Formats: sequence, C-alpha cells, structure tokens
Amino acid sequence: MVVEVINTGTELLLGEILNTNFQYLSKHLNSMGFDVLYQTTVGDNKNRMQEAVTHAMQRADIVIITGGLGPTRGDITKDTVTEICGLECYLDLDTWGRIDAFFAKKGSCPPPNNDKQAMIPLGAEVLQNDMGTAPGLFISHQDKYLILLPGPPSELTDMCEKQLWPLLRQRFGNLGIILSRTLHLRGIGESLTAEKIDDLVTQQTNPTIAIYARRGEILIRITAKADSSKLAISMLDKAEVVLRERLAAYIYGTDDDSLPSIAGKILSANHQTVAFAESCTGGLASSLITDIPGSSEYLLGSVVTYTNMAKHKLINVQQQTLDEFGAVSRETACEMAVGVRSLMGSDYGVSITGNAGPGESENKPVGLVYIAVATKQAVYCQEHRFPYGRVENKLRIALTAISMLLDKINQENNSEDKI
Ligand code: ATP
Repeated sequence: MVVEVINTGTELLLGEILNTNFQYLSKHLNSMGFDVLYQTTVGDNKNRMQEAVTHAMQRADIVIITGGLGPTRGDITKDTVTEICGLECYLDLDTWGRIDAFFAKKGSCPPPNNDKQAMIPLGAEVLQNDMGTAPGLFISHQDKYLILLPGPPSELTDMCEKQLWPLLRQRFGNLGIILSRTLHLRGIGESLTAEKIDDLVTQQTNPTIAIYARRGEILIRITAKADSSKLAISMLDKAEVVLRERLAAYIYGTDDDSLPSIAGKILSANHQTVAFAESCTGGLASSLITDIPGSSEYLLGSVVTYTNMAKHKLINVQQQTLDEFGAVSRETACEMAVGVRSLMGSDYGVSITGNAGPGESENKPVGLVYIAVATKQAVYCQEHRFPYGRVENKLRIALTAISMLLDKINQENNSEDKI
C-alpha cells in the first residue's frame, strides 16, 4: 500500500515550524507495513493544494493530508478534497454536539463559523477529535483512500492512537511489520565504517543497512520487513551478529543508548564514581551525564573552573603550571583531573580545558582542547582539535570527554580482571 503524506500550512513552508506530524506519521505507518513513498508540503493556497492532492491520488493508494481543518476561511483542506472527489457535505449533528460540548466544558459557546467543522462529506467516516474541535475524516473514493487529520500535533497523535491506527489495521489487515535497530559506534569514521561493511551494504535487500554520521558518532541502522515482529527481530539479530563480527571494537550501544547512558550503566554496575572539572564546556559534560535518571549514584559533583583563579583555588592547579604552560595545556588538564578527583573523592576525575572559539586565546588555536582522566593508578591526557562553531564544539568536546572516560573505565576494569 503506497502512502503519500501531504502536510499543509504556509508556516511549514516558511520554515517557522518543524514538520513533526510527518515524522510521527511516517514512523508509525512504516512500522505497520505501509510504504510511505512520498511527502509533500503545500501552503494554504487552494490551487496548489488541489494540484498536490490530485498528483498524490495518481501515485499513492492512500493520501493523508494534515492541517487546514480549522473553522476559518484560510482552512481549505476539506473544501479542496470534497471538490476533487465531487462530494456533497451535510451538517453532522453528532459532530456538532461534540463541538458544542467542547466549548461548554470551557464555559463558552461555539462561534458561528464552527458550523463549518461539523460539515461532513457524504460517505466519509468521522474520526472524532477529543483534543480539539476539528474532526478528522476517512474518505474512500474510487480505489483510493483520503485521510484528513488536524494540524495541531496533540490532536493528530491522539486521533491516530485512538482511531486511525485501529481503523487502518482493521481495513488493511496485516501488511507485515518493519522494525529497525540502530548500532552506535565510536572511535571510527564514516568512510572506514563504510569500507568495512561495503559488501553487506551493497548486497542488502531485506534487512537493509544504512550508515549515518551524527555528532561525532556513527550510527548503523538495520531495517527488516517481515510478516511478524518475531521474524523481523530474528532478521535484525542475524544482521547484528554479522556487523558485530566486523565492527565489535567500535560498537558501544544499541537503539536509545548514548555515551552518557552507557558510561552511567558501567559506573553503576562497577559501583564507581566520577567528577568533572570543566572549563570551555561550562558544565555541559556534567549536564549530559545528569540527563540520565539515576546519575546521582555515580556523579559525585563537578566544578566549572572557567578562569585560572578557579582552576587554582578550587582544584589546586599550580599557579606555576598555569603561568608556564597556560590554561589550555596538557599539564593543566592533568592537574585539573587529579585535582577534581581528589576534591570529590571519586574513582575518576575528568577534566576539559580548551579554546572553544571563535577567537584565539593565549595564542592557542581555536578548537584546541585537552581532555584528561585521572584514575587511582594514573592520569591520561588527550589532545584534540575541534573544527566546528562554538556551540557545536562544546557538545562534541563534552561527548569526547565522556567517550574517553568510557575507554579508561574499560581499560582499568579489564586490567584489574587480568591481575
Ligand atoms: P486549527 O483548528 O488549530 O486551525 P488545523 O487543523 O487547521 O487546526 P493548522 O491550522 O494547519 O491545523 O495548524 C495548527 C497548528 O498546528 C499550527 O499553527 C502549528 O503550530 C501546528 N502544526 C500544523 N501542522 C504541523 C506539522 N506538520 N508539524 C508540526 N506542527 C504542525
């Protein structure tokens, strides 16, 4: 079943709002086995909407149109569709009663132009709107289906969950199921990943394998289409095994895992703790760690040591080190990591010092960063260059610090195993 989604609204075309309705619809429709092959965005203009709907009806079995169901003159979706299909409308008393009740709950009466929302095309099924006043519509026309949904995301999702998904399942039975799994990789670039699994990517049909780069990590998405979720899961499992054979050293998590969540999981499991001393990231690494519920178990505390004075007074970086090597230096990073570890009494101390840009400071280039991790046994430091803008640099630096922490935890725990 080929589906086209048409999202209406000039705001979307102007880029003022993100098209989250499409993201929601596409994700659910795909998982139900529908082939969402086209998406069109069109402004609140009758001719162009007519053109978009007519075109969609030529290439898709199901056309889903969102938005433009409000009571005002600018809301033209229903009129456009009824004109194309040649349908008459009638005042649906049940819908009118619901709109009346919706306003009564708020202690007011529906304005006269709300009649428009209770006008239903003959033969259409009404999808009631529990979150607003615009009803959705399910229209079967010749061999096509047109589905009209309200624009506000809360109304659209509520209507889909309660009515549209059950209706589609009932009408179209089991179209199969599409499931995806994402592998998260670190310490490897996109091209090397592609090279290592090039034959798998090119031979793929079902499951499919796709590689994406996102914020310093690589994602591999495996997508399987099958008659049942059990079968789809076993296809994903098999593909994952093959991918792990080639990339095990780089894979650190799956699906919703993230560097902070995995670092947290391992610290919790080992009953270990961490503390951060952050300069150019201003506390972002600690903030990412605290995005994970339960992080108070392993994050003892952090300090934002933005100035030399703070580095010296709070975590005991020697004035001589700062004078001789500067704040952005390997020596300062190491003292920061050791200092915060000792201040907080944690198992690991992580420090970040660098120049996030845009201007040079201490004659150190923009993007030069030192990250250090102090453990019971030693202190490790890495030098990095980040070429992005200030805000993007901060995020990538914070994630790199968490990634380095993860390496050191693994390293320490593995070496302890060996002892
Ligand atoms: P209303 O009864 O509120 O007029 P409607 O069905 O006519 O609803 P629109 O007027 O098209 O819907 O959109 C109402 C609001 O819903 C928009 O201002 C926007 O905030 C949000 N919205 C509309 N379409 C989308 C979309 N595709 N993605 C995210 N938000 C959207």
